[in-house]
Amino acid sequence: MAIEFSLGKKHLEMREGIRALAKNVIRPQALAWDREGGIPEDFLRNMARMATSMGSNAMRSGLGEDDDKKNEEKSRAKGGGNLFGVLASEELAWGDGGFLLCLPGPGLGGPPVRASGTPEQKKRFFEVFQDIEGPLKWGAYGLTEPAAGSDVAGIRTSCRKDGKHWVLNGRKCYITNGARASWTVIFATIDPGLGRAGHRAFVVEKGTPGFAVGRIEEKMGLRASETAELVLEDCRVPEENLLGGEEKYVSKEGFMTAMKTFDNTRPLVGAMACGIGRAAYDYACDFVKDNYVLSRPIPRYAAIVERLAKVGRSLDAARTLTWRAAWMADNGLANAKEASMSKALAGQAAIRACIEAIEICGAEGSIARDHQLLEKWFRDIKVYDIFEGTGQIQRIVISKRLISDLKSF
Ligand SMILES: Cc1cc2nc3c(=O)[nH]c(=O)nc-3n(C[C@H](O)[C@H](O)[C@H](O)COP(=O)(O)OP(=O)(O)OC[C@H]3O[C@@H](n4cnc5c(N)ncnc54)[C@H](O)[C@@H]3O)c2cc1C
Repeated sequence: MAIEFSLGKKHLEMREGIRALAKNVIRPQALAWDREGGIPEDFLRNMARMATSMGSNAMRSGLGEDDDKKNEEKSRAKGGGNLFGVLASEELAWGDGGFLLCLPGPGLGGPPVRASGTPEQKKRFFEVFQDIEGPLKWGAYGLTEPAAGSDVAGIRTSCRKDGKHWVLNGRKCYITNGARASWTVIFATIDPGLGRAGHRAFVVEKGTPGFAVGRIEEKMGLRASETAELVLEDCRVPEENLLGGEEKYVSKEGFMTAMKTFDNTRPLVGAMACGIGRAAYDYACDFVKDNYVLSRPIPRYAAIVERLAKVGRSLDAARTLTWRAAWMADNGLANAKEASMSKALAGQAAIRACIEAIEICGAEGSIARDHQLLEKWFRDIKVYDIFEGTGQIQRIVISKRLISDLKSF
């Protein structure tokens, strides 16, 4: 099998376009959005228009936009929507990680609908994002609960069939874009005793009686992004909103829906971490160029450059893993292990990059002068090793797969 590490003309052009946008339009506003805890809707609308006029879903594909099999085939032939997504995600996160999570579109809700929805459901739930001139629309993904984060199998939100509806009760927490979402994919269980086999996934639409927004979180980092608690109290969801229909759930399919989502989104989250890590790395490189090259003794300069080289190596390795995982997804290959590898390494490499950048800049790096970018990245980056599965959980996934799959390694 041929191995190809170079990007095609289309990907390169797209990356250059987004890189310029990140540098000239997004980055200059990142500190203000962080301070204000959000991004003005007009700005987001302009970005959505720009993505559309670029003739692609460049910015939105990063978090899952395309739908049916035909599009998947097309995107594969063109070089792949997932690869496109990781490239765009790294560049946009270099500009601002919070911005990327605020972009209108189905967001993390997209992959489960795409993976498990019926054709009718895909049409119905993706259609709401087509009109970019109307009110902005978001989708969301509601899996985490107060007592079930890493332990996905342990969700307690209940669902029971009542006539032509399902009745849902429970609480979801830390849901990205949860309050503003037009619909949220909610995972619930018919019986916690059944474990994974009891899981069901529903698309719950905003305004459904019994579906309410609870607390909006005040976060350490990614402050521009909304993170909300969702409350379901005797929430009656029409049976047509059970993702994939009842026949889908004969064998643990609800749980698999949640897991399939991760195979697509973990490389994207890894790529976002690479973007923030690269931002800190670039900052430190510029600092060293300006402050060290001529003015410091050679041994000290060499020691600093060695630290930068280590950061650069790790980020490059992490990026390569995100490309591989995305390429596998684009080519219909099972990529759970590779997706976890990319996220596990990217999270750690990017956290290291932010810490090293602060340390290399010395006292200058630790001063939060009206929230300088280094300090912001340091706050932003930690969560990339927490959401979409913590670093520890990625390492468990990887080791389980390696042990069960020793022959292929
Ligand atoms: C900003 C933000 C946005 C988020 N967005 C979403 C969203 O849109 N949708 C959604 O559903 N969720 C979302 N989450 C939730 C996120 O996915 C969870 O926080 C994450 O899965 C970890 O779960 P937890 O917080 O309950 O931690 P816990 O699972 O309680 O873990 C606590 C610690 O224990 C460790 N640990 C747990 N189990 C094991 C084990 N078996 N072996 C070793 N160590 C272990 C973990 O690695 C971690 O260090 C978001 C979280 C944040 C912070």
